Amino acid sequence: MAKSGTIYLVGAGPGDPDLLTLRAARLIEHAELIVHDGLVDRAILAMARPDAELVSVAKSRARHTLPQDDICALLVREALAGRDVVRLKGGDPLVFGRGGEEAEAAHAAGIRVEIVPGISAANGAAAAAQIALTHRDAASVVSFVAGQCKGLAEQDWAGLAGKGRTLVIYMGVKTAPQIAEKLMADGLAPDMPLAVIENACRPDMRVLRGPLAALPDVVEAEAVKSPALIVIGEVTARDTVALAQLAQEVAQ
Ligand code: SAH
Repeated sequence: MAKSGTIYLVGAGPGDPDLLTLRAARLIEHAELIVHDGLVDRAILAMARPDAELVSVAKSRARHTLPQDDICALLVREALAGRDVVRLKGGDPLVFGRGGEEAEAAHAAGIRVEIVPGISAANGAAAAAQIALTHRDAASVVSFVAGQCKGLAEQDWAGLAGKGRTLVIYMGVKTAPQIAEKLMADGLAPDMPLAVIENACRPDMRVLRGPLAALPDVVEAEAVKSPALIVIGEVTARDTVALAQLAQEVAQ
């Protein structure tokens, strides 16, 4: 029987190819077969060999091109046939990326898996918008949550947002009104500052700011589209850029 290939679960980062790890870039450049998500930037796919086979398994809320089970089956089938598979995902494969399920499917079939971390949207967006997710004077806890998930209404987010804490919401554009309502019902102040970062680390990035109570209006009035992150907490109202400049002037 032919030796199985390896499945590489590779993080493609938030968009800009410069934010790939060297390991990810090398794997993309050498791959014969790349199975990728819709979130992976075209500039990154353009790094593949001209003769590489690129398979898109793009998912959207409305349209599932390939259900997750079929994606797992595809990866396993190709690896069992002896091919190495680069499974390329936006951000980090293990942060809301379903990399866990794919690794489990591969392990169950006795296939070797290597996981290559990527810059998750939270880290990319925070850097691009110059928001310190933790800040010695403003936040010592940071939480990542999924804004569109099984049983959103029953999720217990009390305690994840508020003084000294930063809450980062992935996949929250569609459910922004419910999220704002839920957080305020849990006792979060309506004037708690937040930032919405759309297309972080891409040329068309937008950073929108406002108080929690205005979140639904901001999303609607500005026609915010996925991919976007919602970051809630005092850190979003600190002007780290201005502070950095001030510190430099003082030092001179
Ligand atoms: N594994 C990915 C997350 C996949 S879930 C990661 O680690 O980043 C998809 C969600 O990620 C989107 O709905 C959005 O909330 C967020 N996201 C991904 N790329 C983004 C980007 N460039 N800008 C803003 N948000 C992004």
